[in-house]
Amino acid sequence: MAKIADILSLIRRFAPENATEPDFEDNVGLIVGSQNGESIGALLCLDCTEGVIAEAKEKGYKLVISHHPAIFRSVSRVTDETPTGRMILAAAREGISVYSAHTNLDFCQGGLNDFAAELIGLKNIRPMAVENDIGIGRIGELDDSVTATVLAGKVADIFSDKRAAVAGNGNKTVKRVAVVNGGGGDISFLTLAASCNADCYVTGDVPHHVALYADQSGLPIIILQHYAAERIYIKRLGEILSGLARNNNTDVQFEVSEYERNPIRMEEV
Ligand SMILES: [Zn+2]
Repeated sequence: MAKIADILSLIRRFAPENATEPDFEDNVGLIVGSQNGESIGALLCLDCTEGVIAEAKEKGYKLVISHHPAIFRSVSRVTDETPTGRMILAAAREGISVYSAHTNLDFCQGGLNDFAAELIGLKNIRPMAVENDIGIGRIGELDDSVTATVLAGKVADIFSDKRAAVAGNGNKTVKRVAVVNGGGGDISFLTLAASCNADCYVTGDVPHHVALYADQSGLPIIILQHYAAERIYIKRLGEILSGLARNNNTDVQFEVSEYERNPIRMEEV
């Protein structure tokens, strides 16, 4: 058992709470509960839902660490009539605290963007831009040039994403690749990738008008599903936090939530 505050200090050092994405209204840190209790460790997830809280209760964790903010936009009531309300009430009932590390974990060294760039096989990985000491996205080079379509196939395998797709010219030869994990479908990221002379951009949550822009501007986008792009990191986060805990002689365990293995219950059709 360890103090929740001591467990949180591990992730706070790795991904400082004040290093969130510039010009983005994020909500990171302790979102529900108290840091004055004790826990055997933390259950790690992308999204803290009622199901994850139930799993934490069953496994004896008093702390859940989620990537996406457990509460993102402010809520005006906490009732059992909404999913967020039910999650908060369940956590409060069971005395489970919920902590979220979002864009601070995306962009920190060793965070989601670095991991995605590594998995894609990029070398010389560096941020696309640095704002307020925060490295935005990542860019790097492949060992060997391939077409965007071939790279998309590899990326689909690496991230186990059956729905990965290419928007734009799939025949383009690609060597320099930019990446923003998860939801980088904003046009500003695409133009940033273009300004870094990327041959291709990998991200998720791409709306139609951005896919069209990619097609018309000659910078193909490899589109991953948000869940596939980020879920793979949660295991890595557990390894990182376990390593930091060992160095600190903190006796805790980190476990990846099984509940959210397929949280949105999407079926192949
Ligand atoms: Zn995300």
